Amino acid sequence: MRLSRSLIPTLKENPAEAQIASHRLMLRAGLVRQTASGIYAWLPAGWRVLQNIANIVREEQDRVGCQELLMPTIQSAELWRQSGRYDAYGAEMLRLADRHGRELLYGPTNEEMLADLMRQSVKSYRELPQTLYHIQWKFRDEMRPRFGVMRGREFLMKDGYSFDLDYEGAVVSYRKQMLAYMRIFQRLGVKAIPMVADTGPIGGDLSHEFIILAPTGESQVFYDAAYEAMDFTKEAVDHESPADLERFFGEVTKNYAATDEKHDEAVWAQVSEQREGRGIEVGHIFYFGTKYSAPMGLTVAGKDGSQIVPHMGSYGVGVSRLVGALIEAHHDEAGIIWPDSVAPFPAVIVNLKVGDAGCDALCNEAYAAFGGRALLDDREDRAGVKFADADLMGHPWQIVVGPRGAANGMVELKRRATGEKVELSLADALAKIL
Ligand code: ATP
Ligand code: MG
Repeated sequence: MRLSRSLIPTLKENPAEAQIASHRLMLRAGLVRQTASGIYAWLPAGWRVLQNIANIVREEQDRVGCQELLMPTIQSAELWRQSGRYDAYGAEMLRLADRHGRELLYGPTNEEMLADLMRQSVKSYRELPQTLYHIQWKFRDEMRPRFGVMRGREFLMKDGYSFDLDYEGAVVSYRKQMLAYMRIFQRLGVKAIPMVADTGPIGGDLSHEFIILAPTGESQVFYDAAYEAMDFTKEAVDHESPADLERFFGEVTKNYAATDEKHDEAVWAQVSEQREGRGIEVGHIFYFGTKYSAPMGLTVAGKDGSQIVPHMGSYGVGVSRLVGALIEAHHDEAGIIWPDSVAPFPAVIVNLKVGDAGCDALCNEAYAAFGGRALLDDREDRAGVKFADADLMGHPWQIVVGPRGAANGMVELKRRATGEKVELSLADALAKIL
């Protein structure tokens, strides 16, 4: 992408409406713009980040055997009446009516819709277990939208739903999601601690929230210091046999970690190295038995002809919230520091003298080497402005091309995360990045 022809409107000044670093930086780096309270347009660079995160989520869901589908954002109120949630859901639900007066809603979640799709098509025990997910926009009319995309009203979520024949099967599906989530967060370059969460009337211990520690987080959390040192990926298993999954699950959940909702003072008192802090909830997995399948009449025929009501779980990742949460975890005074895995562009090529034949040629060569995936700063602007914007936007690598070096095919390569700069040939710089 050529910056001179891109809608990446960076801002020098801090926008007054932004209270936390990620919100400020998302606006300043030109990733998003608010179009209505809690509703955002994702501009080209922001959209790339969002898609990169979604793709990692997708790959890790598929890796544990889940199927992707796409359900609509608009749902029928009738479905929600069947589960009994239509009236109970309250003011967070955006309710609509079509021209015929039929009641609709903008989906805040999809348990009912998927239970309905399964009810129409799945008839036998032989067809289960299955886990399906989609990555789709949700709407919740939050009382206080704030912190930019962290608590929006329209937001992108990965929501998955498992269907098993019995509790034991549901436990395996749940643990597969735990594994997938640990892999997702590792690839995103953040540590998200699985914390015991509320199970409501279902009871049991199959509800975890995934929390990224950050002083600006909305959740109060209590955890064992062991989590600070823990390398979750070391525990990740490659073969998902029930026994492997059980061992993995035990390993990642063995130390105390809970949000204030489920905090247990008696157990807490036994923790030798206590840590208290704030955190951002970026995911939530939840087993809820037959809470939706039973009222909606979802059944499959068992081996002996009996009717089995499938056990369900649901598994959410806040894809758009993660953009903010990642920035909270990865930034400095100058701007964003993107992990390579989600950066909108792998590198920026900074042309210090647009119009200089040598600079232009070397920049074009570098740009071509990335197959158009890099960002080329070809604006006729001062070097200082370009450096500041490159740091602000947080590209993992900066390839700086000036007239003196260009004459000899040399560039300066800067690593955003460390600030380290080296002078080398373009070929060597490309070899380092690609
Ligand atoms: P919260 O307690 O933050 O309101 P929730 O419990 O309502 O979250 P879930 O229904 O479990 O959230 O949704 C799954 C994930 O979707 C959450 O873990 C979070 O990352 C994300 N999410 C929920 N509400 C919002 C929102 N208003 N804006 C952005 N992301 C959200
Ligand atoms: Mg909520």
